[in-house]
Amino acid sequence: MSQLCDQGGERVELSNRQEQIIQIVKENGPITGENIADQLSLTRATLRPDLAILTMAGFLDARPRVGYFYTGKTGSELLTEKLKKFKVQEYQSIPIVVEEDVSVYDAICSMFLEDVGTLFVVNGKSLLVGVLSRKDLLRASIGNQDLTTVPVHIIMTRMPNITICRKDDLLLDAAQQLIEKQIDGLPVVKDSSQGLEVTGRLTKTNITKALVELARDQHV
Ligand code: ADP
Repeated sequence: MSQLCDQGGERVELSNRQEQIIQIVKENGPITGENIADQLSLTRATLRPDLAILTMAGFLDARPRVGYFYTGKTGSELLTEKLKKFKVQEYQSIPIVVEEDVSVYDAICSMFLEDVGTLFVVNGKSLLVGVLSRKDLLRASIGNQDLTTVPVHIIMTRMPNITICRKDDLLLDAAQQLIEKQIDGLPVVKDSSQGLEVTGRLTKTNITKALVELARDQHV
């Protein structure tokens, strides 16, 4: 075994033979499996697992009737390619919603019970009307008001100032929104005839999870 590479999100420990194959393909590609085998004085069958690994990890590409060629992509290029394909849908969580008339007190209870940092506020038709963050609720709590009588629509951030995303959006674009707007989460929405329905929740935790999966190559 020689170097430990981080290729395409997969930690690949290349064997000497695999490195030799890469070298041969770099210098002679496109080249058939048969020819690679000849150069190494091995059979095509012996090489098959190595060629499969190198192709799956993204070092080599294969074209029918042409042969193997070196992709020339670095590990980080392959990682970026993968990351750019992640969609919001694959990483979103279940949204926790409260109705606009519930009290700040009840919203605080929901936040604790559901163990989330952001609540989405909906109207009687289940359409998105606002967002409540931890600090929104804290701010309301340091006044002298009775929290059981103040409805959340008084203190929430309201439409149309809500930053949203959709299930088919790229995870990277949603992450960019979180950074730009300096917020912890986005409602995942879908259009209905009268407004936006909340179908999911995308938070910094989801993004972190995607990154860890990518690094450990558990993404399916
Ligand atoms: P915290 O208040 O716990 O720091 P955030 O950074 O998410 O959490 O929230 C900061 C402010 O931005 C809050 O007033 C909140 O209502 C608002 N906010 C949170 N998420 C969104 C969103 N998706 N769109 C618009 N405003 C949001």
